[in-house]
Amino acid sequence: MPAKKVKKSTEKSVQSDAAKAVKYSYNFGKKTDGNSKLRELLGGKGANLAEMARIGLPVPPGFTVTTEVCSYFEDHGHRYPKTLAAEVKASVTVIEKQVGKKLGSDKDPLLLSVRSGARESMPGMMDTILNLGLNDTTVKALATESGSEAFAYDCYRRFIQMYGDVVMGVHAVNENDHCPFEGILENIRKEAGVTLDNELQAADLKELIKRYKAVIKQRTGTAFPQDAYEQLWGSVGAVFSSWQNERATLYRQKYGIPATWGTAVNVQAMVFGNMGDTCATGVAFTRNPANGEKVFYGEYLINAQGEDVVAGIRTPNPIATLKDEMPKVYADLEAVRKKLERHFKDMQDFEFTVENGKLWMLQTRNGKRTGLAAIRIAVELVNEKLIDQKAALLKIPADSISSLLVAVFDPTAEAKAKTLTTGLPAGPGAASGKICFAAAEAEAVAAKGGHAILCRLETTPEDLRGMIAAEGILTSRGGVSSHAALIARQMNKVCVCGAAEVAINYGAETLTIRHTVFKNGDDISIDGTTGEIFAGALATAPSEVDQVLNGKLKPADSYTYQMYAQVMKWADKHRKLGVRANADSPAQAKSAIAYGAEGIGLCRTEHMFFEGDRITYMRQMILATDQKERRKALKKLLPFQRKDFTGLFKAMAGLPVTVRLLDPPLHEFLPHDESSKHELANSLGVDVDVISNRVHALHESNPMLGHRGCRLGISYPEITEMQARAIFEAAAACYKLKKPIKVIPEVMIPLVGFAGELKNQVAVVHRIAAEVMQKKGVYFKYLVGTMIEVPRGALTADEIAETAEFFSFGTNDLTQTGLGMSRDDAGSYLGRYKNLDILPQNPFASIDVAGVGQLVQIGAQKGRQVKKDLKLGVCGEHGGDPASIEFFHAVGLDYVSCSPPRVPVARLAAAHSALRANK
Ligand code: ADP
Ligand code: MG
Ligand code: MG
Repeated sequence: MPAKKVKKSTEKSVQSDAAKAVKYSYNFGKKTDGNSKLRELLGGKGANLAEMARIGLPVPPGFTVTTEVCSYFEDHGHRYPKTLAAEVKASVTVIEKQVGKKLGSDKDPLLLSVRSGARESMPGMMDTILNLGLNDTTVKALATESGSEAFAYDCYRRFIQMYGDVVMGVHAVNENDHCPFEGILENIRKEAGVTLDNELQAADLKELIKRYKAVIKQRTGTAFPQDAYEQLWGSVGAVFSSWQNERATLYRQKYGIPATWGTAVNVQAMVFGNMGDTCATGVAFTRNPANGEKVFYGEYLINAQGEDVVAGIRTPNPIATLKDEMPKVYADLEAVRKKLERHFKDMQDFEFTVENGKLWMLQTRNGKRTGLAAIRIAVELVNEKLIDQKAALLKIPADSISSLLVAVFDPTAEAKAKTLTTGLPAGPGAASGKICFAAAEAEAVAAKGGHAILCRLETTPEDLRGMIAAEGILTSRGGVSSHAALIARQMNKVCVCGAAEVAINYGAETLTIRHTVFKNGDDISIDGTTGEIFAGALATAPSEVDQVLNGKLKPADSYTYQMYAQVMKWADKHRKLGVRANADSPAQAKSAIAYGAEGIGLCRTEHMFFEGDRITYMRQMILATDQKERRKALKKLLPFQRKDFTGLFKAMAGLPVTVRLLDPPLHEFLPHDESSKHELANSLGVDVDVISNRVHALHESNPMLGHRGCRLGISYPEITEMQARAIFEAAAACYKLKKPIKVIPEVMIPLVGFAGELKNQVAVVHRIAAEVMQKKGVYFKYLVGTMIEVPRGALTADEIAETAEFFSFGTNDLTQTGLGMSRDDAGSYLGRYKNLDILPQNPFASIDVAGVGQLVQIGAQKGRQVKKDLKLGVCGEHGGDPASIEFFHAVGLDYVSCSPPRVPVARLAAAHSALRANK
């Protein structure tokens, strides 16, 4: 979208007068053009730098080049809009005036940072350049003015290193190669006999710079540029280009960020945290982002710059110790913490630098947090009266609820296990799996269905794929703002980081904790709530919420449960959509009710045919050669089905239950390998050829489009009769209980594409209902409806609605038949579709709104044309997917139905849909 806008407006500006040209650069500082509402244009970082400047926080002055320029840059072969150069020049002058320094000047030179910043934060994915403006002359001026040669040359070598890497492309050639700058730096440290970079003397740094420049010249054939404006444009271009780098692209795919958004570029006066011991740099959160607790949380390094804190080279100090080291700064930070939360009304993640005892703010954003933290923070912000209920609900991603429901380690197993060591708890939950030292290994283990724990000294964006694949992440270095902790928060991964006693040796492929040595592939368990690490695969137990719901824990003893209950109560108040569950057994039904389901939206009867003797009778029924024999077998199945339905109705205590009649093709119930065929032949007392022939006869080329669904009931009405009888007899039994349960069974006919199919089956169901009621002497209400799961059913929904009393959209099959894609095989090409942006989401996980969604919409509309109050629901996998739920809300369905553990997620997603629609 912005791309189009830019094109149009720049064309216009070329034609008409320059005075009407689009504004591409927004200043912040003493005078601020932007604000936090302009994040589409300024990116999150730029918009919030402007906002902080506006509310009087100390922000070094600078300007933001808009995301529109990024799109222009991409669309025009890496060129810029004509008016940009003059705007940038003017903005630099504004900075120069404010700080009293000049870019490129050999006296008091202005130094700049050039930073990326997209609409949504993509931490570490794009590039930053610091200390821009330094060259062989200005570095001398900086040395004189700061009184420290070592400081000035340290800034210069950092700049060359970043510029060389990001702009000039001097970096490791492959995975086994080292970054050339790091290699040179290591040599210099060795030669100087020091272990830390900040121990290097000016002479060492000068030598280092000489070698840095040499490697740049050698690798690129060009010298490191000395002109400040050339440096500036080189950096701006590199940041815009980094929007398309592999890391950023992968990240966008994972989080569904459109490539068209682009990044902004922020240019800002440098402040220095590395000028000595009265300087520092740090990152902090206004609350704990791992568990949501209201404590000041963060870390800092004295005498350091930029990424030092998160790079894991020096171990940062927890923010609390700053209170003693720099009491004045700490007090200022506490004031900033309060002001930020009061202004942004959310937990903030901010970056700061202290230059000679003066605090500077470099960034703030709504902090990424774990699901648990999202819930706790939202609930507590309401208690603190900073936000209201509705705002709180919208701050909790629906999926976060599932992080309250994930298993924890079994308390008895945990008590018995010995804690080997403890790291920082960075991503709550319990995970166990095989030790993997490389991202590719973790991916391989996960691809085989195994559980991997990715164990790294520290993680980098290169590890992202492995982190996605792993159950949990363990690092031996790095603090609460390390890359591992950050990704864990965002992806709700179990994570323990900075476990200093864990010694990882990549070469030997060993992980050693004190004297215990683990090898690649050994089992290990990590508790991301406490930070504990255990040997082996520890048993897990239900979450606290589940324990309360099952009566094993008192609500008063679980703050987690209380928060869950609070959020669910708010969600139920605001949602319009009903939420049911897909459940086939009394146990599942009970769990569905505990999670707040208001009924069963889909009971699949075929699951009931597999247990114990039933499969034998089922097979007898299928192998029967005439109706008489088939009826005999069905008669044996009847009591089982009746018992199942009675159990289900009792468990649901009068809530609606939708029972779908037999759906899958019959061959699914027959054995396919030789030995099972023989076994079946023996048990039925028939020749094995009989079985083989029948299996052969039932074989279909396209079983998904085969003899299934209502087609079975039409071919063999006695199957429908038996199932209807079982349902109604079970209902009758419930009405006859001492304490009657008034069930209203909903009988659902699958795979209807023709009104005639439904009419045929409905007639059978009504006939049996009348029979049962008369025989049992109880009369009750029931409904007969259909699934809409083939396109023809949706398109002729008006005809079908004449007979149907409800519709349930079976979006799994509707996706298969609507897209002509088999759910079982689509995996082999959907990945490529996603990479090429042909299909951004897996259509079986999140509904294809434009195609399948349209079928749902047509079906709903046409159905309600005929029956105004026709009850409409959905029972595919999509019923538990927040994005799909938003769509179902919008088309006016009455309820969604999903698996029991997704019910709380669906309740919250339904509330979000209602709140967003009302906004
Ligand atoms: P990211 O988006 O990856 O967080 P940033 O643009 O925030 O990257 O830059 C990384 C770090 O560089 C910041 O956290 C800060 O420490 C340092 N930095 C950026 N701009 C400045 C500046 N103007 N003065 C001092 N340090 C800066
Ligand atoms: Mg940052
Ligand atoms: Mg189906």
